[in-house]
Amino acid sequence: MVYSVRMRASQGGPHETGGRHISGAERIVERHRLSEVAAAMVERALSHSRGTADFVNVAIEAIDTAAVKHVPLLPARTVPAAGVKACRAAAVIELINAGVDAAAVNKAFRRLLSLPDSMRGAMLLSAVTGDRLDATGERGVRVSRMDIADAVSYDTVLANRGLEGAHAREAMVLASKVLSAPGMVAELCWSDDPEYTAGYVAAGGQYIRFPHLKPYGSPIGGRVFFVRPGSSIKELQAYLERQPVLVTLAEADHALYQ
Ligand code: AMP
Repeated sequence: MVYSVRMRASQGGPHETGGRHISGAERIVERHRLSEVAAAMVERALSHSRGTADFVNVAIEAIDTAAVKHVPLLPARTVPAAGVKACRAAAVIELINAGVDAAAVNKAFRRLLSLPDSMRGAMLLSAVTGDRLDATGERGVRVSRMDIADAVSYDTVLANRGLEGAHAREAMVLASKVLSAPGMVAELCWSDDPEYTAGYVAAGGQYIRFPHLKPYGSPIGGRVFFVRPGSSIKELQAYLERQPVLVTLAEADHALYQ
């Protein structure tokens, strides 16, 4: 048995009654780590750079180990473009190269850039038309129940790739689960942490990082998942929200630390 630990925090009451999203976190851990991991999430919720939460929800749920799916960690590379404009242009190219229609890419950027504030989850858009496919409105689809399988080796891998810090640590796990979902073509993301300007495209089996997808100081981040037309949105959403996934290091990563 393992345990899914999920946290969501907001300001001005719970998300359901209009509270502003502050932060969230997802882990899958063994029984003996539950208290420590839950306590760390509470601390994080109360000291986020987006503001102080006045509502924090931590949910713990037992999961049968046999129900956990294992997916490989995406290999990462950084596109060293300078400035937001150049990084966005480079991200557009990566998305188009991965098979997302230019019209859909443009709509995705427009949608993300016109958000009045960060959503809690992601928008599912058609990879061809850019039309919104999910019905979750301002909430978005929240990817949940995922973690890295071997946290100690993972931290070493990240340090070696120059990707230290919670943002990349969590984003690469999330992106690895997202790209393993049925019908998924690509993901585009930038953070809602005002101090963190980097963002990424996950596509074509890769995690492609850009140092500046938004200006420093902006508290508005977001995620778009580009979906192949004809995919079952119900199935896809169920996978993203409910399928427990542990992300495993590639053989090559492991070999480095033996
Ligand atoms: P973050 O990378 O945590 O700063 O999040 C950036 C944006 O991605 C947030 O504002 C949300 O819109 C979205 N997001 C964060 N966590 C998730 C998640 N678990 N599933 C889907 N979207 C998320």
